[in-house]
Amino acid sequence: MAKDVLCEVRNCFFWEEGNLCGADTIYVVSHVGKEAKNSRETDCKTFQPA
Ligand code: SF4
Repeated sequence: MAKDVLCEVRNCFFWEEGNLCGADTIYVVSHVGKEAKNSRETDCKTFQPA
């Protein structure tokens, strides 16, 4: 389990100073099916615009 989630998406509702994610849980998805080949093929589905 991740202790901290670091994130650069400053305009997300859950983003906190220091590039920290303040969400209790996050949901990461692959947008190319169930197996991603690299990080560019993944996204945080928990993102909400601030
Ligand atoms: S919910 Fe996702 S996009 Fe938003 S701060 Fe957390 S990791 Fe970043």
